[in-house]
Amino acid sequence: MASKTFLSVVPPATPEQRFSEYLAGLDDDKLACKAGTHNIPKLKPGRLPEGVDVRRFGSQGQFQITLACEDCGLPATLTTGNHGVLGPESRWVYDYAALPGFLAPKGTGRVGRKADYRVELGQRLAADVINAAAVTASRDAAAKRVEAARRAAVTPRQVHRRPNAHATNPRARKNTRDGERKMHAERQQRGGQL
Ligand SMILES: [Zn+2]
Repeated sequence: MASKTFLSVVPPATPEQRFSEYLAGLDDDKLACKAGTHNIPKLKPGRLPEGVDVRRFGSQGQFQITLACEDCGLPATLTTGNHGVLGPESRWVYDYAALPGFLAPKGTGRVGRKADYRVELGQRLAADVINAAAVTASRDAAAKRVEAARRAAVTPRQVHRRPNAHATNPRARKNTRDGERKMHAERQQRGGQL
C-alpha cells in the first residue's frame, strides 16, 4: 500500500531525462553515425556494392537502390531518374524507423542535438585518444632513433668524401717532409756560402 502511494507521486521523466537515458544506452556504432555521418558504400561503375537491393520504380524506367550503412546498419534508398540514370537531385533517403533504437524517444526530438551526440562520443573516446597518443609518441621516438642511427652511419663517409691527402696518404706526407728537409738544407747551404 505504501509503495503504491510512492509510485503515484513520482513525477514523469522530463524529456531531458528521457533523452539522457536514451543517449547513455545508445550503442557505439549508432552513436558514431549520429555524431558524424553514415557510411553508405559508394556506387561505382562495374560492380554495385555487395548486398545492394535494386527495384524497379514508377513507369519511366526508374529504379530504387537500397543499401545499408556499413557502421550502424541504417538502410538508405536512392531513386534514379529515367532509365536508371542518377540525376543531380538523386540523394540517399534514410529509413530511420527501420532500425530499432536509432531514433530518440518520442517527445525528446527537440532536446537532443547533434552536439549532444558529439559530446557523448567524445567522452567515450577520450581514453582511446590518450592511449593512441602514447602509441604515436613511441612510434615517433623509434623513428627518431632510426634517423639518428642512419645519420651516424652516414657521417664518416661524408668526412672522407674530400680527403686531405697529407692526412691520409703516407707517401704524400713523406714527400712533404723530404721537400721540407731539402729546402732547409739548401737554405743552410746558401747561408753558409754567404
Ligand atoms: Zn550509420
